[in-house]
Amino acid sequence: SPDTHHDGGDVIFPSLPPLYTGHPEVHLRNGIMNASRLAAAHEPDAEKAFFVADLSQVYRQHMRWKACLPEIQPFYAVKCNPDPYVIRLLASLGAGFDCASNNEISQVLDVGGVDPSNIIFANPCKATSFVRNAAKMGVDMMTFDNADELYKIARAHPHAKCVVRILTDDSKSLCAFGIKFGAPLVTVPGLLAKAKELSLDVVGVSFHVGSGCYDPSVYTDAIMRAHAVFDMGKETGYTFKLLDVGGGFEDALFEQAAGFLTKAIDTYFPERPDIKIIAEPGRFYVSKAFRLAANIIARRAPLASPSAAPQEVKQEEDPEHPSVMYYINDGVYGAFNCILFDHQIVHPYVLSMNGSFHLTEDQPKELSSVWGPTCDSIDCVSEKTALPSALRVGDWLGFDNMGAYTVCAASQFNGFEVSKVIYTAGGAGAHEVRSALMKFAKDGHGL
Ligand code: PLP
Repeated sequence: SPDTHHDGGDVIFPSLPPLYTGHPEVHLRNGIMNASRLAAAHEPDAEKAFFVADLSQVYRQHMRWKACLPEIQPFYAVKCNPDPYVIRLLASLGAGFDCASNNEISQVLDVGGVDPSNIIFANPCKATSFVRNAAKMGVDMMTFDNADELYKIARAHPHAKCVVRILTDDSKSLCAFGIKFGAPLVTVPGLLAKAKELSLDVVGVSFHVGSGCYDPSVYTDAIMRAHAVFDMGKETGYTFKLLDVGGGFEDALFEQAAGFLTKAIDTYFPERPDIKIIAEPGRFYVSKAFRLAANIIARRAPLASPSAAPQEVKQEEDPEHPSVMYYINDGVYGAFNCILFDHQIVHPYVLSMNGSFHLTEDQPKELSSVWGPTCDSIDCVSEKTALPSALRVGDWLGFDNMGAYTVCAASQFNGFEVSKVIYTAGGAGAHEVRSALMKFAKDGHGL
């Protein structure tokens, strides 16, 4: 594995890889140097791609959250990246968890130390067996947005604390969910009446403005709608105690989103001593924390024939189809599934070239394309990107912001392994991460 050369990493959890110190850049370089050593020793698959996860970055995001939204408890959306260190760190920092399946619930509960009341089963359409299992695990809080789900919950978990997920404007997001989930407001009174008839406890309202929300002003309208549903609850005999503002928080727009949310909550819920407010952030916590290093395993470029006249050697550049094609050892069937499923555009940069990390900006560049390792032509990582003309097989490319909706949905199509993660906690927050994890491990939650 790419991390075997590291010495001095702390083993905090016996079942997990060690946790290192230092800047992620250092670990990217160490991983690359280690791969070169293994390659020199003829180790098969020595050059495999790997992630470097900076847990300090996750910690810093949590501090940002607490500074901007002190009243809102984040329930981290496990689906976004169910990384075992991220779950342990966030659990030790007091976050709750949004789970979508039995396995996610088990994964969170198995680390120990998370009370089932700090989990919301935020999937409005669940298998009956999953609802029953949630009851067994003590997970009571769960969303619904249709009457069938209410019948199901009444049968399989009659003491559940139900949360009605409403439809809000998701047109300003990369991934819209409204076509699949969310009760239109006109249907809510009927649903609440049905819940009452089934003697179910409906405790509050949730929504999701869509993942990757690029216009956070939509939170204002969403809160207004949630408030209208609180009133509908009253009319049906429910006093709601929970407002769940969902996910959708983009790193660059977070402070702006927090501003819209805070103002809207103050406007529509001015008196709220008995209302608990939670959110389900996913990508906000992990996106920037993971970087990927991938090796150029093959290259296809026009053959420069020494005997040809210069005008024959120089091919016509087709800007739509760059003539230089690089093939790297992770692709859209692996970590880069985010390109297909999460509508991401990734930006490769050179990590190491010709064995050197000393890269100059003034390298001549040419338009190139970057491809994954599988035999499928859909496996394209970047259709057009300017990369140094001197880049060759064996060099390494880096990709930032690879923590959200990447590794969790990676497959092993064509027999390519899912890239492994090297963990570090460097820079601001390193000490806090370490003590949070140490304490968590010491308290007996060391799985
Ligand atoms: N909550 C639910 C129910 C979701 O479906 C998702 C994303 O799919 C999230 C939260 C997390 O969203 P984000 O990563 O945009 O914060």
